Amino acid sequence: MNDSFHVYDTTLRDGAQQEGLALSVADKLLIARQLDGLGVGFIEGGWPGAIPKDTEFFRRAQTELDLEHAQLAAFGMTRRADLKAADDPQVAALRESRAPIVTLVAKAHDRHVELALRTSLDECLAMVRDTVTHLRAEGQRVFVDAEHFFNGYQDNPAYALEFVRVAAEAGADLIALCDTNGGMLPTELGDVVRTVIDRTGARVGIHCHDDSGCAVANSLVAIEAGATHVQGAANAYGERTGNANLFTIVANLQLKKNMHVVPDESLAEMTRIAHAISEVTNIAPHTKQPYVGFSAFAHKAGIHASAVKADPMLYQHIDPAIVGNDMRMLVSEMAGRASIELKGRELGYDLSGDREALTRIAERVKDLEATGHSFEAADASFELLILDELNGTERPEFFTVESWRVIVEQRENGTQGCEATVRLHAKGERIITVGEGNGPVNALDTALRNAIGQLYPELAELELTDYKVRILEGDHGTDSRTRVLITTSDGKNEWATVGVQENIVAASWNALVEAVTYGLLRLES
Ligand SMILES: [Zn+2]
Repeated sequence: MNDSFHVYDTTLRDGAQQEGLALSVADKLLIARQLDGLGVGFIEGGWPGAIPKDTEFFRRAQTELDLEHAQLAAFGMTRRADLKAADDPQVAALRESRAPIVTLVAKAHDRHVELALRTSLDECLAMVRDTVTHLRAEGQRVFVDAEHFFNGYQDNPAYALEFVRVAAEAGADLIALCDTNGGMLPTELGDVVRTVIDRTGARVGIHCHDDSGCAVANSLVAIEAGATHVQGAANAYGERTGNANLFTIVANLQLKKNMHVVPDESLAEMTRIAHAISEVTNIAPHTKQPYVGFSAFAHKAGIHASAVKADPMLYQHIDPAIVGNDMRMLVSEMAGRASIELKGRELGYDLSGDREALTRIAERVKDLEATGHSFEAADASFELLILDELNGTERPEFFTVESWRVIVEQRENGTQGCEATVRLHAKGERIITVGEGNGPVNALDTALRNAIGQLYPELAELELTDYKVRILEGDHGTDSRTRVLITTSDGKNEWATVGVQENIVAASWNALVEAVTYGLLRLES
């Protein structure tokens, strides 16, 4: 492992402080494997001894984690004011975690020592010195997090600098300067980092929070000023506005600063890893996240799109493939023919030779969006529209609907049930079927499957995986309309379709018919 620069991940400890985020031990093991796949040098696993789940994580990690790049760090406090380091049970838990690294946190701000810790500055420094010395003697590598360092430096620079000197002299490999409250700005923070290195000669790291919106910028400035260890969290998880985004920092260092901090082939996995971690945390990915967000390379405006067609790099700061992301064209009423042509290419259709079809598609998109459709998240509906309009292709008629109806019934015992009837034509037959369900859409889905399931047995592979409803405000005296987005899976791929109507059941039915049509099209080809 290259020890001259550290990428240190704190997703499992500081990141896990995020509101609404709760990680089981199994979740933590899964996330640690993903972070190792990215090639980070250190993974802070948690706080053994203080949090039982974290003690358990370090125990299971010994047999269940086979890390290729990363080493585990156990996080914890220095000894208590009234105990020897060797006798402190919290320090013992750090030792017994068997983590190769212990990251000790201590207060570098005099007011916190006096008000929160209620001890003297000298005693606080002695706690740092004793604990570092003890753990080093026991064979662990020690990093020290200087909590509230930047506010502390502003109030009492002499104590803050002494803190760094004491930790370094006791044998800590580095002192990570923490902007715990996250309120610093880059220029001021960079100046402090430079001064600390000049005055103490210690190796320093940086740990930032995003309360001023500058966590990544502050981290980069600190590195320019001489910090050789950077801490961050996946997807910028963390309490309040979050920790510094580890992915953004890594990509910036590697692609903009020519620093080789993770293997190039791992960087190309970064988008997948970011989304895989979102799956585990069950927090929807932030679409505008730099580098790895779904929208990070999405182009919408018409003028942009024609330039992007000529040369994608005209409107992109990097080639998205380097971080495993993709350029996407957004289809919307703002889009000209160029973006529709590009979107078509993305879906596998060459529209460049058919200007008439292109114009027809652009007109239909415009008309449909005016009535509340949105194709940005409904690629499958857009592809069906291309098939309708493109000369030489034909949208297969698997079935044609004659009529449908749904009855919603509240029964005497208080339960509700739905019953749908569908009349349609398929393969030369007129078919009438009934379906029951717990809701109207479910009942319609069942009735449709009952109607054509025997003619198209592959229908059994399709499953509705997501259903979103949006009420669109009516304007100019019209009633409001309902837009339904349905996501369907065949076990291997997912696709989304859209339906818009005044009535929620009708909108759902339209999206459902497109979902099934598209699914049959995929499975038959
Ligand atoms: Zn923090």
